[in-house]
Amino acid sequence: MKKSSGILLTALGAALPLGTACAVRAAAIKKTLSGEPPAIRWTPADEAACAERLSKMVQIPTVSKKQEEDYPEFRRFQALLKELFPKTFAAAEDHEVDGNILLRIPGTDPQRGALLLMGHQDVVPADQEGWTDDPFSGIIRDGKVWGRGAMDCKSTLCCVFSAVEALLEEGFTFKEDLWIFSARNEENSGGGSDAAADWLKEQGVRLNVVIDEGGAVIGGVIPGLPAPCAAVGLVEKGFVNLKFTAKGSGGHASTPPKNSPIARLSKFVTEVEKRKLFSKELAAPLPQMFAAVAPYLSYPLRFVLGNLWLFGGLTKNALGLFSDMATAFVSTTAAFTMASGSSAPNVLPDSAEMICNIRPAVHQTAAECIAILEKTAKKYDIETEVLFSRDPSKTTPTDTDEFRYLTQCISACLPDTVPTPYLMTGGTDSRRFEVVCDNIFRFTPTRLTPEQLAAMHAANENIDIAAVAEGVEFFKYYLKGYNKKV
Ligand SMILES: [Zn+2]
Repeated sequence: MKKSSGILLTALGAALPLGTACAVRAAAIKKTLSGEPPAIRWTPADEAACAERLSKMVQIPTVSKKQEEDYPEFRRFQALLKELFPKTFAAAEDHEVDGNILLRIPGTDPQRGALLLMGHQDVVPADQEGWTDDPFSGIIRDGKVWGRGAMDCKSTLCCVFSAVEALLEEGFTFKEDLWIFSARNEENSGGGSDAAADWLKEQGVRLNVVIDEGGAVIGGVIPGLPAPCAAVGLVEKGFVNLKFTAKGSGGHASTPPKNSPIARLSKFVTEVEKRKLFSKELAAPLPQMFAAVAPYLSYPLRFVLGNLWLFGGLTKNALGLFSDMATAFVSTTAAFTMASGSSAPNVLPDSAEMICNIRPAVHQTAAECIAILEKTAKKYDIETEVLFSRDPSKTTPTDTDEFRYLTQCISACLPDTVPTPYLMTGGTDSRRFEVVCDNIFRFTPTRLTPEQLAAMHAANENIDIAAVAEGVEFFKYYLKGYNKKV
């Protein structure tokens, strides 16, 4: 952090003639935090009910499985949802797609379009060491619900269903169609969301907005930012798996030749790890993200990020000094994840292989990234095979009523947070709905600590009960106000 700031300051000195203009601009950028108390308050009673519902949801082990013909745990889970949220299911048409929940609550004015809220039912396995409790106990302790799926993603599902149920109990009527989608196979890319999105397209449904998991309300992730970030994911990087194979003549390890398959692979990996192969760009939504947080930062970061028109080049190159996450924001990443050679310690491999997982940056296509790596691999006489390839998603625009409304809701319900456009380095199901929607927001309105975030897909996953209750109120507020938005 100190080293990075020093580099930035040096560059600032070089730009002195423009300094006054930049200082004026940096001083003029405005904070958006309202500082007002939330428009809606939640009660301890709501919190207890939320905790109870989420605990019951966690207790059913809806673990993702490949090639599953029958899915009794998911059927049990869906029966539980019907029991917990009877008004929602009574009001909705059931359009289930192969065990994936797809509900439509008809609006009174379908001309106004439709909304889709989503969150997946399945969870990753809980076989990691270090669990304090049974991962599917759903135990409520220390103001938190514990267990696999407590955060990812049953809390989202609990917030969405609880909000809709509460609104129906109040006698609220939806003007727009409200769709709720919940995949049973998100974690293993099982295709439920593809099927649902394709079906909606076939039916001629266009969605005004999709809100899925992704960003959340997290403090301490942006160095120097004193308030939690309400991170709204607007785009997802691409995803590519490549297999690199280096061939040799094998033989006994006592007389090794030069440039063995593993040696060539090592040289190749070393070149890739230098991080010079892929270009860096401050592609959208990074400028919007910096514009959102700059007013809360102290100098010199505020000065630099508030003047990207001048310091954009410097920023994109200096960002990598801050963290690996910052590097992942501005460029394609390549991670070597699996390797194999011969089957014995004293046998030279006649072929060695490595698998590399690439996340194409939003300014590059998967094909461009593959071509760069293939060309580099060829220098070391290494063959490239494409195992899987997906381009980055579309970028959701921010100059729209939908984005403005979402940020207004964040400011109203989570007034101490900074609504922040965000670039997702991971993936969600929501990108599949690009065929029927232009405004896809990856945002769960629940507060997480960095420790809770680290427990995702790991041991001792948990979420604060207060955060779930807050998430319920957010969705209530969002849905209620959406009626009047346009
Ligand atoms: Zn998830």
